[in-house]
Amino acid sequence: MSEAGAGTAPMPGAAGGSAVDLPGWVHTYSGKVRDLYLPAEPHPAGDVVLVVASDRISAYDHVLSTPVPGKGIVLTQLSLWWFEQLDDLVPHHVVTAEAGPDGVPAAVAGRAMLCRRLEMIPVECVARGYLTGSGLLEYRDTGSVCGVQLPPGLVDGSRLPEAIFTPATKAELGEHDENVSLDRVVEQIGLADATEIRDLTLAIYSRAEQIARGRGVILADTKVEFGRPAQGEHAGRIVLGDEVLTPDSSRFWPAEEWEPGHAQPSFDKQYVRDWLTSTASGWDRHSDTPPPPLPADVVARTQERYLEAFRLLTGRTLELPAV
Ligand code: ATP
Ligand code: MG
Repeated sequence: MSEAGAGTAPMPGAAGGSAVDLPGWVHTYSGKVRDLYLPAEPHPAGDVVLVVASDRISAYDHVLSTPVPGKGIVLTQLSLWWFEQLDDLVPHHVVTAEAGPDGVPAAVAGRAMLCRRLEMIPVECVARGYLTGSGLLEYRDTGSVCGVQLPPGLVDGSRLPEAIFTPATKAELGEHDENVSLDRVVEQIGLADATEIRDLTLAIYSRAEQIARGRGVILADTKVEFGRPAQGEHAGRIVLGDEVLTPDSSRFWPAEEWEPGHAQPSFDKQYVRDWLTSTASGWDRHSDTPPPPLPADVVARTQERYLEAFRLLTGRTLELPAV
């Protein structure tokens, strides 16, 4: 984890957009979407970190200036649901998501998880069951992805013969993650850990892909992160951290509309990407200028997409603030 946010003053304002001031907590880091806080005083649960999902949305490697109200709630509630579905496969970092004096602060309840603080393993663990995105680009160049040879004739959206582990190194804010081979990961973190995170990633993908398929959703690929806690029940073991199987970390496609040969409609940022690349936005994605603010209807439809993904996968509904 980089220290990009360290020392910056927490900004006031709505819980959704920027990192908020939380009494009793020290804001230590902000990624594109999440804000991390450490307890100001020793915490009864020990070595913990508060992970708060904001309503920020990123596209084309930019964090947009317009938040999507309630998006952080969807991400957190969906992650919590998935952690439960995966419980028997892999231990996870969540201590509690309940609000309370020793739980999460009321101001961020719903969007925050109190987690065991992990020493993160610096590998983006990606599993792919379908070919698209950076995997497709690499395949077109080399016939393989991250050193895994694939059969000829695959197109955008093709289902792979079996799911593959395609790790990437974590990039600094604004940079692309770089796909690497398993050998490269072995050099970096050793054979035992590399093998364990590969096997866990593929097991998580396989379980989640099955669950999603049963609900009419294709899980094309997903990214997970692991780390080791210094304390607690799983001290020293590899534990699943971060968020899991959200539209921000995964590609979900409506199964009914799946048709290899072109880009698939996605469950989350489709409207944002379509609008940003349309003439209506006036934005050139290859320029250095930041993207313009999103119109309200694009925000509303994007919120609707996140909610729809949540509803389809979990069978539950969520109330979100109006756009
Ligand atoms: P990106 O926008 O590319 O995902 P990012 O991963 O740096 O960038 P976020 O995902 O917004 O940013 O922030 C979450 C950060 O918290 C990540 O750096 C992640 O590795 C880290 N993290 C997640 N769970 C834990 C944990 N239990 N202990 C310590 N750090 C954690
Ligand atoms: Mg992240």
